[in-house]
Amino acid sequence: MCAELRQAASFVAAAIISLTAAAGVAIAHGGADHHNSAPPVIDDGRPWLSGNSLGVNQLSEHRLTVHNLCQSEGERQLERLSSVAVVEEAFVFVPELCLWLEIGEHETEKSVAVNPHLVSKIAEKYHEIVLYHIHPGEKVESIGYFPAFSDLASIFLINASFFDNPEIQIRHRAISSISVIEYSLLLSDELAHKIQRLKETGLKNAISENLLINYSTQDRRTNYIDAVDRCLSRTAADKTTLADCFPMTSSPFRLEYRWIDETDPAVSADTVENRSPID
Ligand SMILES: [Zn+2]
Repeated sequence: MCAELRQAASFVAAAIISLTAAAGVAIAHGGADHHNSAPPVIDDGRPWLSGNSLGVNQLSEHRLTVHNLCQSEGERQLERLSSVAVVEEAFVFVPELCLWLEIGEHETEKSVAVNPHLVSKIAEKYHEIVLYHIHPGEKVESIGYFPAFSDLASIFLINASFFDNPEIQIRHRAISSISVIEYSLLLSDELAHKIQRLKETGLKNAISENLLINYSTQDRRTNYIDAVDRCLSRTAADKTTLADCFPMTSSPFRLEYRWIDETDPAVSADTVENRSPID
């Protein structure tokens, strides 16, 4: 097994989503009023504790879940959390149920690990999910607001099992104190052909590792960094104009940018009263 392959295998155990810049400005503590033991959303060997708001959880004894919190208000909470947190955190959001599941592990200033197998179990159960992670702190340099290349590459580890299953959608979003950046895979003919070939050669179970190796080359990392640099030189690194760089493409990835609108009136109606019960 070559060094690259060993590295890929370790990624499968825990996809590392990295932050590129400085630490936060204050301590984020939990955020939620964790008063309830929630029904088991997914059996992960840890109890799920139900809270009222999204927060960082660095304890390994349990995971957090927030019910009846829909996308726009949830994103606003993550934006605020990003501005005070000192470590990254990751969540799965189930749009249909307005349900949030905290899934991050080994949270640090610059990375948070997620277990692709846990995300797969959640996706198989709910079909359409969004994987969020926060980039905490005010960035000294605007490059800190962009996903790291490893964020983009994690798509291969997390989505590979479902490339041929149109019923399951896993989207990826990074939230900072100023924005939401959604990153996705451009499923080009070349990429589709490569996936098909891997399946035909009996390497289906190793698709994620193979694609990761194929698409995490130094050239592709450099191309992405160059695209970010071009954006920063065009916007004079003024973070209020970063949106002008998007959509941004760096094969095989595409990035889209959104401001979080604090004045969005939809927030007041953004709760769910009668969603399906969680089982
Ligand atoms: Zn990241």
